[in-house]
Amino acid sequence: MEQRGEPSGVNLAPPDHDLAHQVWKALEEVYDPELPTLSLVELGMVHEVAVADAEVHVKLMPTFVGCPALEIMRHQVERRLREVTDVGIVQVEFVFDTPWTSSHIQASGREKLKKFGIAPPPASFSPTTAPACPYCSAEGAEVVSVFGPSACRSVFYCKNCQQPFEGIKFV
Ligand SMILES: [Zn+2]
Repeated sequence: MEQRGEPSGVNLAPPDHDLAHQVWKALEEVYDPELPTLSLVELGMVHEVAVADAEVHVKLMPTFVGCPALEIMRHQVERRLREVTDVGIVQVEFVFDTPWTSSHIQASGREKLKKFGIAPPPASFSPTTAPACPYCSAEGAEVVSVFGPSACRSVFYCKNCQQPFEGIKFV
């Protein structure tokens, strides 16, 4: 098990700051409202955590601009971080200048998606190629609908194991 959880390449200043570490741990417990058990950290949405005294500033990359879940996530993050000891002011903002891409999803996040029966996003976009089936790994599923249950997902049908599954759209 990865214990620290700070993704590499993410600004964390200063690196050994206790409070910053606690904030990261807390963020690992904030889950996508539509994909419970999949944390915002695993989704690669946490762009930056800045801690100054008791003030915490979190920058999130929105997974899908306009996804209605974004405001819910913001409130979940604020609520969770206010529970962290020593945290006073919490500011959560979405950054739009550094676009989130589906490649930000961490390996553990991709595995959890499969357990939900949701195919992780493909490495590159092709509107006609479905991702590998999360159940049997077969390629060549049929696209049933590009408008899945959420704006972020599409629905596919695996001809091999004959099961429908959802896939995260490539962005
Ligand atoms: Zn299958």
